[in-house]
Amino acid sequence: MPKYLQPLIVGNWKMNGTKETAVNWINSISHLVKQNTPNCNIVVAPPFPFIYAMSELLGASRGIQLSGQDCVAQDMGPHTGDVNAAMLADVGCGYVILGHSERRADHGESGTIVKRKAESAIAQGLTPIVCVGETQNERACGEAIDAVRGQLTNSLPTLEARSPSYVIAYEPIWAIGTGRVPDLEEISEIHDCLRDFLCHQLGNTGADIRLLYGGSVKVNNAEQILRIPNVNGCLVGGASLKFDEFWNICKTCDNIFSA
Ligand code: PEP
Repeated sequence: MPKYLQPLIVGNWKMNGTKETAVNWINSISHLVKQNTPNCNIVVAPPFPFIYAMSELLGASRGIQLSGQDCVAQDMGPHTGDVNAAMLADVGCGYVILGHSERRADHGESGTIVKRKAESAIAQGLTPIVCVGETQNERACGEAIDAVRGQLTNSLPTLEARSPSYVIAYEPIWAIGTGRVPDLEEISEIHDCLRDFLCHQLGNTGADIRLLYGGSVKVNNAEQILRIPNVNGCLVGGASLKFDEFWNICKTCDNIFSA
C-alpha cells in the first residue's frame, strides 16, 4: 500500500490574470483557508509580476504558498528577461514549476536544462515541481511509459541529501487544456511506474516524493483522480483561475483524505 502523503494542490495560472484579479484571488482564498483549512497543501503559481503583491498580502500566514512558473539556473548577472531561483525565494516563493510542456515546447528546454534549474532551485531552498508527460503520438504508439521514464532520467535533480526535496507532476501533453483526461487506469499505471522508478533510484526517500497528476483537472473529476493510490495531488491549470473553482478542487481532499 503506498504511503500516505499530505496532498498538494497547485494552481498554475500560466500567462493569465491582472494585478486586480491576482489580489482578489489571494484575498478570497486566504479568507476561506482561515475559516476552514482543507486537508491539503495549497500552492499557486501566478505570472512573475504578481508574485510580490500576493506575497505581501499573505504576510506571515502561509496557509497558501507561492510558486514561480519557471526559473533559470544562472546566478545574478547579464541574463536579460530571466528570473532565477534566488529572486523567487526572495519574494516569498516556496516552489517553482520546472519543465512544463509549454516551456519545453516554446523555449526548447531539454531535460538537461530542467535538471540544472531544479538543482539551482533546491540550492535556494525552493521545492521544484518537475513536469513530465507523453505526447498524444507516444500514447497512441504504446510508448507513454518509456517517454516518461526517459524524461525522469534526464530531468530529475541529483539528490545528495536523499530527502524528498522535489515534487513530480505527470502531465500528459494531450490532456493539458483540452478537456481530455486519461482513463483512471492509465493515470494509475504511470503513477505506479513513477513510484517504482523513484524507489529504485532513491530507496525509502522515493516513497516520500509527491506525485501530482495534471491535465484538465476540474471539480467534477478531481475526486476520482485524487483517490488513485500514488496520486498525491494535482497540478491545475485553467480551473485554478477562478478562486471558487480552485477552492472546490482543494476541498475534495477533505472527502478522500480525512483522518
Ligand atoms: C497545466 O497548465 O499544467 C495544466 C494542467 O493545465 P489544464 O489544467 O488547463 O489542463
